Amino acid sequence: MPAAETVESPTIAIVGGGPAGLMLSHLLARRGVDSIVLDHRSRTEIEHTHRAGILEADSVRLLVDTGVSDRVLRDGDEHEGIDLRFSGRSHRIHFKELVWESVWLYPQTDVFIDLADARARDGGDVRFGVTDASVEGIETDSPIVRFTDADGTPGELRPRLVVGADGSRSICRRLVPEEHRSAYFHEYPFAWFGILAQIPRVAPELIYCRSERGFALISQRTETIQRMYLQCEPGMAPDAWSDEQIWEEFAARLAGEDDLTLPTGPIIDRAVLGFRSFVQEPMHYGRLVLAGDAAHTVPPTGAKGLNLALADVSVLAGCIEDWLGSGSDDALAAYTGTALQRVWRAQNFSYWMTQLLHTTSGRSDGAVGDFAAMRQLGELDTVVSSRAGRTYLAECYTGWPQR
Ligand SMILES: Cc1cc2nc3c(=O)[nH]c(=O)nc-3n(C[C@H](O)[C@H](O)[C@H](O)COP(=O)(O)OP(=O)(O)OC[C@H]3O[C@@H](n4cnc5c(N)ncnc54)[C@H](O)[C@@H]3O)c2cc1C
Repeated sequence: MPAAETVESPTIAIVGGGPAGLMLSHLLARRGVDSIVLDHRSRTEIEHTHRAGILEADSVRLLVDTGVSDRVLRDGDEHEGIDLRFSGRSHRIHFKELVWESVWLYPQTDVFIDLADARARDGGDVRFGVTDASVEGIETDSPIVRFTDADGTPGELRPRLVVGADGSRSICRRLVPEEHRSAYFHEYPFAWFGILAQIPRVAPELIYCRSERGFALISQRTETIQRMYLQCEPGMAPDAWSDEQIWEEFAARLAGEDDLTLPTGPIIDRAVLGFRSFVQEPMHYGRLVLAGDAAHTVPPTGAKGLNLALADVSVLAGCIEDWLGSGSDDALAAYTGTALQRVWRAQNFSYWMTQLLHTTSGRSDGAVGDFAAMRQLGELDTVVSSRAGRTYLAECYTGWPQR
């Protein structure tokens, strides 16, 4: 890489301008700590990447109370529960009644727009479209981040701390020497086939449906566009099913005694989403910390990925402030312990929701009859028929209190 034309010294360099990176930059600015955020995608590209859609109550409070935006309260939809559907019947899990909390349907694209707008409004330094970001010297007190700006100019940052908020394919997390990191990984034998369809709303809230043909999720986006998913084989091509097959599959999986029917319409986006659970710890090493998907990924069933990213940086902002004030590495080290407690709760819940609702073909060794399917129905029945079961789901889904 050619020599940098400018060398800048922000207090914090953040690699990755997704929800974790932008929210951290915002929270640090409120504490008087300056940062520079680098992202290799353009703002337009990120704005058009469809991902998560459910915000926990505390994620909404974080956006509103820290002054990012209150648009979520106007344009988002408060959901007071979800439906669990199996054996052709829907069972409502009423969050508000069970735990006095709710969640909000508000697409990640809008969260990103709010955060990017807030950073621009407050004079934040966010650079989209940079390439070749590389980090070195995290074991020293003077780490260096090199990159090429969107206009092709080489740049160099000499921050006091680098934050890797660069998503599930993080380059930053690999900088931690192997002997100083532990990775935990679980791969699932299925994936989600996700579509955006131009149809009216089917239901006011999410329907999580377990059927013998596999899982289906009915979610919403707007009055005229809906987001929906079908369990599918991992590695399936997005064009493997025709539109007709997709609608038939939804109809078959949702079939039930209440005649729940899905209107059909143009499918405007389709993607296959792999399932994996991953955690790398510690989330702090030398002058590098990791946040969001860079440190952990969860399967999307429990809608935790985006929420975890926001919860991480809510903790991290305080730890960085303490570290800058005290000079003690203990303040940064505390981040891992606090963040991981929530991460492992979310890993457990995401895994639990996934195995509760997805079906696997074939019988487990030694089973007579489809033992796995009958056991799963027994578990679903236990959850919906007991207040304790419903409360457990409601508590985890709406999220544990953020620090
Ligand atoms: C297709 C898909 C669907 C999903 N659906 C759901 C869902 O329904 N519910 C849910 O809760 N979660 C879902 N997730 C997960 C959720 O979107 C993530 O957990 C969330 O985006 C994490 O935020 P983040 O800021 O940590 O990472 P990201 O949003 O991935 O942001 C990381 C940023 O870093 C940038 N970056 C990466 N590498 C570099 C580099 N080398 N240099 C500079 N910049 C870099 C990227 O461009 C990106 O903008 C989904 C994820 C995907 C991929």
